[in-house]
Amino acid sequence: MQFYSTNGQAPIATLEKAVVKGLAEDKGLYMPERIKPLPKEFFDNIENLSFQEIAYKVADAFFGEDVPAEDLKRIVYDTLAFDCPCVKVTDTIYSLELFHGPTLAFKDVGARFMARLLQYFLKKEGAGQVNVLVATSGDTGSAVANGFLGVDGIHVYVLYPKGKVSPIQECQFTTLGQNITAVEVDGVFDDCQALVKNAFIDKELNEHMQLTSANSINVARFLPQAFYYFYAYAQMKKKGLANQFVVCVPSGNFGNICSALFGKRMGLPVKRFIAANNANDVFFKYLQTGKYEPKASVQTIANAMDVGDPSNFARVYELYGKNHNAICADISGATYTDEQIAETIKEVKAETGYVCDPHGACGYRALKEGLKEGEVGVFLETAHPAKFKDTVDRILGGDIEIPAKLQAFMKGTKQSVPMSKDFADFKQFLMAE
Ligand SMILES: *Cc1c(COP(=O)(O)O)cnc(C)c1O
Repeated sequence: MQFYSTNGQAPIATLEKAVVKGLAEDKGLYMPERIKPLPKEFFDNIENLSFQEIAYKVADAFFGEDVPAEDLKRIVYDTLAFDCPCVKVTDTIYSLELFHGPTLAFKDVGARFMARLLQYFLKKEGAGQVNVLVATSGDTGSAVANGFLGVDGIHVYVLYPKGKVSPIQECQFTTLGQNITAVEVDGVFDDCQALVKNAFIDKELNEHMQLTSANSINVARFLPQAFYYFYAYAQMKKKGLANQFVVCVPSGNFGNICSALFGKRMGLPVKRFIAANNANDVFFKYLQTGKYEPKASVQTIANAMDVGDPSNFARVYELYGKNHNAICADISGATYTDEQIAETIKEVKAETGYVCDPHGACGYRALKEGLKEGEVGVFLETAHPAKFKDTVDRILGGDIEIPAKLQAFMKGTKQSVPMSKDFADFKQFLMAE
């Protein structure tokens, strides 16, 4: 499979190049040149397949031409060593729980897949050290750091905004050591993302070291996220609830929802999508006005969605032929203030007993407000509520239990490199590595 750049100025790339480079030379995002529809029989029988079997079929459509079946199967099966169950919250609203992986957030799926695929390519080529740069608003850093921890030949630099990730999230990438370096940037998430993007296009730096990205701009991270949308459909179909299937995705950088849109293009019967935003409403505004106007991100209690210039907008735009009406036909939007998010967490708990994290709460609310007669919706519970314990406890006036997996991270000592938001400083640091 060949990959082209959304900016149209970079040469066509192989899968290997797209994965190893991350971002195209022209700063565009790689897109697969074809999206292969899956056969009708697959969907007819999908409820009888396991998560791993479903995922392998989806993976085969994107990666099957470049990775031998046996290797791809192993990569998929190792990646999905945990379940993603659809849990009933109300009669018409289900939660797709994506927090059963090692770092308790959905990004485990893409990060684990990418780590394994990159390792496969490095082994095959006998290539030298690869350096993964990743900007995080919280959960990406932990998922990527843990996905790559101890992997030979790969060093990971996690850039995170100082004081803007939760203490538990911070522990998940600052205490690991080994091949993981945490970089604490004096700025916001967008500054971290800008440092990473600038690093990829800096000639001198790229001659000094081999760099790649593990943000959702990397095709190996974002495409595997499609797996669980197919699996969610299978679960809902089994319950007889998939006829008017609506999927609601709490969105920040738009990698997650973008993979769902690819799924639809492959034939996944989703009636429509809702992108739920916090107060960072650039996409919501785009839907209303047809104008994409990035702005500085604002800090919210759903911090993993504090993105003012979502990278994957370029992919969504490209997928729909740059056509605003076509985008609006498939996707609607919602935006919520911190007060509304807090109110929703309280309300869901009181009415159903279910505890949402601040991101999932945006998804729940958008379904509650947006579902039409006859529709059944699934929102993505993108992280475990205990990852945002301070916030959730304050809102619910309780003390939610921290799962053992999460507690284990909090025992280590924090280590990170302080950094300004100036690219020159970051470059100097990397040049000395
Ligand atoms: C990353 C993240 C999001 C946003 O996902 P995007 O793919 O960036 O849109 C939402 N919720 C949580 C918990 C996250 O970690």
